[in-house]
Amino acid sequence: MRKKIIAGNWKMNNDKYETKELITSINKSLEFRDDLRVIIAPSYTNLESSVTYSNQTLIEVSAQNIHQKTSGAFTGEISAPMLLSIGVNIVIVGHSERREYFNEDEILLFEKVKTAVENKMEVIFCFGEKIKERKAEKHFDIVSSQIRNVLFKLKNDDFKNIILAYEPVWAIGTGETANSNQIQEMHSHIRKLISDKYGNKLSQEVSILYGGSIKPSNANEIFSNNDVDGGLIGGASLNSDAFLNIINSI
Ligand code: PEP
Repeated sequence: MRKKIIAGNWKMNNDKYETKELITSINKSLEFRDDLRVIIAPSYTNLESSVTYSNQTLIEVSAQNIHQKTSGAFTGEISAPMLLSIGVNIVIVGHSERREYFNEDEILLFEKVKTAVENKMEVIFCFGEKIKERKAEKHFDIVSSQIRNVLFKLKNDDFKNIILAYEPVWAIGTGETANSNQIQEMHSHIRKLISDKYGNKLSQEVSILYGGSIKPSNANEIFSNNDVDGGLIGGASLNSDAFLNIINSI
C-alpha cells in the first residue's frame, strides 16, 4: 500500500533562524503515523541544520534542486553526493519555476532525474499544464508528454524512486485550485499512463501528489480523491499551523 505524502516546498524563504523556528513548531504538534511521510524542502543553506532538527521525527528533508553532474567545474552548483553526505536523499526536479525562470528543458530534467536516481535519491518530479493549454483542452496531452519525455526513459527499478507531483501551473501560488473532478481525472490519467508503460503493480505503488494553492480550507476535499496520494504545498507550508492543518487533513 502506498504511503500518503505531504511535502512543503519552501522555495527561497526562511533564513537559518526562521528555519529552526518553523521546524521546531511543526514538530511540536506532529504526531507519528506510519501511513504518512512528511517532507520539507528548505533552501540549500539550511539543509544540513534541517536534517539535524528533524532527526528522530516524522519530517524528512528534501533539496529543491540538484546539478546533473556529480562533480566538476560548475560554479555555484550542488551535486547529488554533496546532498547525500549531509543526509539529504530526496530532491524536487521539474518545478514550473525552474522550467520557467531557469530555462530547464526536458533534456536537462532527464539528466537531473537520471543522476538523482543513479545516486539512489528519490525524486519529486513536478509537471503540469499552463492555463492556455488547459483552455485549449490540451492538458492531458501536455502532461502525458511531460511524463513520457523525462520519466519514461527510466528503467523499472529506477522508477521506484519517483514521486509524481501534478501541479497545474495556473494553480501555483495563484490562490486558484483545480477542482476535485479536474484533479481526480488527471491523476487517474497519470496512473493509467504509468500502468501502460511499467505495469499495474508499479502504477499502484507510485505516489501521485497534487500541488497548486492547497490550503487548510481545501485540503480535505482534494485528498479525498482516490488517486491523490498527498500534496506538494508552497505558500501554506511556510506557516506551521496551516501546514499541520493540511497534514491532519489527509
Ligand atoms: C508549489 O510551488 O509547488 C506550490 C504548489 O505552491 P502553492 O501551494 O503556493 O500554490
